[in-house]
Amino acid sequence: MENIGLYLHIPFCASKCPYCDFYSFRSDRAFIGQYVDAMRAEIIKKSGEINCKADTLYIGGGTPSLLDFSQISLLVSAAKNRFMEGEGEITLECNPHGVTREFFEQISACGVNRISLGLQSANDGERRRLGRRADCEEVKRAIEYAQKSGIENISLDVMLGIPGSTLESLEKTLGFCVSQGVFHISCYMLKIEENTPFYKMRERLDLPDDDTVADMYLFACEYLENRGLKQYEISNFARDGYESRHNLKYWNCEPYLGVGASAHSFINGRRFYCKNDAHGFVRKPEYICDGDGGSFEEYAMLKLRLTNGLTETEVKSKFGFGIPKSLREKAVKFADRGLVLTDGERVRLTREGFLLSNTILAEIL
Ligand code: SF4
Repeated sequence: MENIGLYLHIPFCASKCPYCDFYSFRSDRAFIGQYVDAMRAEIIKKSGEINCKADTLYIGGGTPSLLDFSQISLLVSAAKNRFMEGEGEITLECNPHGVTREFFEQISACGVNRISLGLQSANDGERRRLGRRADCEEVKRAIEYAQKSGIENISLDVMLGIPGSTLESLEKTLGFCVSQGVFHISCYMLKIEENTPFYKMRERLDLPDDDTVADMYLFACEYLENRGLKQYEISNFARDGYESRHNLKYWNCEPYLGVGASAHSFINGRRFYCKNDAHGFVRKPEYICDGDGGSFEEYAMLKLRLTNGLTETEVKSKFGFGIPKSLREKAVKFADRGLVLTDGERVRLTREGFLLSNTILAEIL
């Protein structure tokens, strides 16, 4: 099997942000220790069951930087020893609040070579509205500590459509990102999910309207691209060579193994996942089958998230047939409206197309 991506889910957060519906919760240190031990045991067990190597490791959450350094080191070592050969991309998601220079020096020494920091906004009022603890100065310090510790590959998360935000405040946030010299930026639109405090108070949130959020998206794409951060996926921008290798595995429909509560996997054409139940995971990890994966429709849906889109050559080499005629014909209708670009080799969405990707993908697939 080709190299897989290994994902470890750490479902702990110091507090819950009011917009977040990820599986994460507050926990005491004793349970966090038990969970890390269970993760390590599961990494070892899975390496015996799945005969493959990984070239990326992504520790996400939740807030993985809540773990003690010794716990992070335990997980990274287990993953490296059991799955990785040579240099791989090893990413740790970090909350900038309270992280120290020593923390970055230690994680760098144990092999972490990429961090993803939750900035969301460089405007402290917007950050407070999102329930984020760190202020902009703290984010700046975290970036500086990481860079001085030898971790140059830093990604910042930016959120579009924050309550009370404007194009001007977004420009300030993007300017901050560029001024920090980071190599990767993810720009996600705020979605008001059910079962979150934001959902209950949605009428009072002062959310920018849909047209303004669309303008924000197009502005961000152009702003970042003009400053050397090229868009390579609907929501992701990077300097050349710094695209997230781990996340590209998802969008290229390549195999990955997820370990931990709520983690999803795609191995040997089968999809499976662990329930959102960290206590259950500690007692006995159980995997729920989620059916077959990797069909042409699924592959095309994922590839069309990328600016490179769907190519005739890749489709042929993977499936033995070219891009179906029916897909091309439907794509042409959107091409007339400037939402899709298509030629003999490629079908891909334009930026305006990305804004309507759900509708377009549903239609052409
Ligand atoms: S820190 Fe991230 S995972 Fe945790 S509650 Fe906030 S948004 Fe959710």
